[in-house]
Order: sequence, then C-alpha cells, then structure tokens
Amino acid sequence: MESPVTVFTQIPDFLDYLGSDLATTIAKTTALANLDLNPKFPFLCSRHYADLIKKANDPAALLCEILPTKDELKKVDGFVDDPVGDLPAGKSDCVIQKYDQRALIVSTATCGARCRFCFRKNYPFQNTPDVARQVSHWLNTHTDVWEVILSGGDPLTLGPGAFRELIEAIAMHPSVTTLRIHTRLPVMHPDLVMQHFELLRELPARFSCVLVSHVDHADELDEESATVFAQLRFSGWTLLNQSVLLRGISDDAAKLNALCRKLFEQGVLPYYLHQLDHANGVAHFEVSDDEARKLIAEIRTKLPGYLVPKLVREIAGEKSKTPI
Ligand code: SF4
Repeated sequence: MESPVTVFTQIPDFLDYLGSDLATTIAKTTALANLDLNPKFPFLCSRHYADLIKKANDPAALLCEILPTKDELKKVDGFVDDPVGDLPAGKSDCVIQKYDQRALIVSTATCGARCRFCFRKNYPFQNTPDVARQVSHWLNTHTDVWEVILSGGDPLTLGPGAFRELIEAIAMHPSVTTLRIHTRLPVMHPDLVMQHFELLRELPARFSCVLVSHVDHADELDEESATVFAQLRFSGWTLLNQSVLLRGISDDAAKLNALCRKLFEQGVLPYYLHQLDHANGVAHFEVSDDEARKLIAEIRTKLPGYLVPKLVREIAGEKSKTPI
C-alpha cells in the first residue's frame, strides 16, 4: 500500500537536524543512547515530530518517546511479546475481536514515528495487501458488529486510495454505525491527516465518528494539531484522547495537568490514562499503580472532573479495560 510518510530513519541525521547543541545536551543529561539497537523495531521519527522536539519546553520528554535506548534490550519478568492478547483474539491477518459487537482492524504496520513504549512493538504485522477485502469478508458474517476501530500502526498513514477503499468496504455494511480511528498522526504528521480530510468530512453523515488521538505530553500539541482537531470537530467528529503514563515523560502531576488542559483547548477530551502494557522492551517506562493513583488524585484537585482521564489497564482476555 502506498504511504506518503516522510521520516528520519537514521539517528545521526535526526540528531543533526535537531542541532548539535540540543542533541548533545539532551544525550548527556538523559543518558540516551545514540544507537539503534533493536532491528525488529528500528528508529523512525517524522520531520514534524522532530520540529516539535526543537521547540518543546521539555524536549527530553519528547525525545524519550522516540529515541531507542539500551534499556529496551533488558529482559524483565512479566514483560512479553503480546501483552494485551492480540494474537489469541485474531480473526484474520488484520481483524482482532476482543469485545462483543466491536472489532479492531490492524490496518497497516506504518506509523509516523516508532514510539519506544509501543505495546505492539513485537507484533507480527502481516503487511496484508487486501485489508479492505478481508475486513468486508469478515463483516459479512458478523452482522452484530456495530463499531469498527481502525488501529495499526497508524491507520491515517494509509495512502488516500487505500484509506478510501477500506472506509468504503466498511460502509457497505449497514450494521456498522460507529467508526473509531486511533491515531498519533495529529501530532506526528498533521499534514497527512489533512490529505484525508475530504473523506473524513463526509464520514459523519454515514457513521457516528470518533477519533481517539494518542497524545502523551502537552508539548506534542501545537497550532497544526489544533487545526486538525478544529476541522474534525466542525465536521461532526467526537474527539477523545488516550495517553500512556510513562516514566520520565508524563509521571508528573503538573505535566498531566498541562496535557489535559491543552487537549481541551484544542477541543479534545482526555479519556483514558493507560498504565503501561507490559510489552518486551518497555519496562523502563513503568510507573507503579500507587504512584499512578497519587498522580490522578493530585490532578483531580486541579481540574474539573470532565478533564480527569480514567486510569485503566488492559488485561489480556478481560472483557473491558480494568479501572485502577
Ligand atoms: S504510533 Fe502507536 S502503533 Fe505506532 S509506534 Fe507509536 S504507539 Fe505504536
């Protein structure tokens, strides 16, 4: 499938682009490794995200999200390749069904960056050439499914032709009334969201449409993400955000507070704060449940209730997310 993502794939090029002062200072102060050590999940970062890092108040936090470190190679008990039970819930190469009457489509392996804490960093993506046909075929025999969730990878990295084909395949099934898209593109590659805009604007006439952005730090939000969210909101999309609680990135009440407020300024409601999924290679991002509860209690004293996200964990095999 065609994908117009523009990215850095080489860490030295990326650090050069950041500028030697910033890169050197960050590398020294945070002990981040200038090495790409995991061939199965190599470094990747969009130019837009690199620009966000350059203008961030807290550049080390954003850099931690995407720059590989030696910690990823540590084997830690309880951390596994499929932490949320995607594989046993697989119905085809690209359809996962964990919950009644809802289905998730692994629409692509491509992302705007490779987040080092990704729960699918060890997922055996199939690079299925006929996702639209497979999805349509599966929906033919699952007429109780009313919500289809596009996931990945990042579904909005699909080229316009492939994205339209997938949406049209889903829209052929009248039982599907809700379309949900999970994406980090509004902060990774906002121009790629805009390339789909004509189609995204048409969709609320056919479906109830929900976009769940994955934003973990206030510095990821800028005027470009604000434009994307504003256009979607005015077109009738419901905008929610889910974050992952991450050591060194968002494990601070002031940072969470700033994220929730800035999301709302851009028309997005904070919805879930996820405890880290225990994928191999992410243990260094872990924040304990006790610490997480304290953080939520603290932001609850600073924010109106509608801006306090639900603290949850996904447990493989459970029929819903588990509140903490
Ligand atoms: S954008 Fe999402 S799927 Fe892609 S690497 Fe980041 S967390 Fe994983």
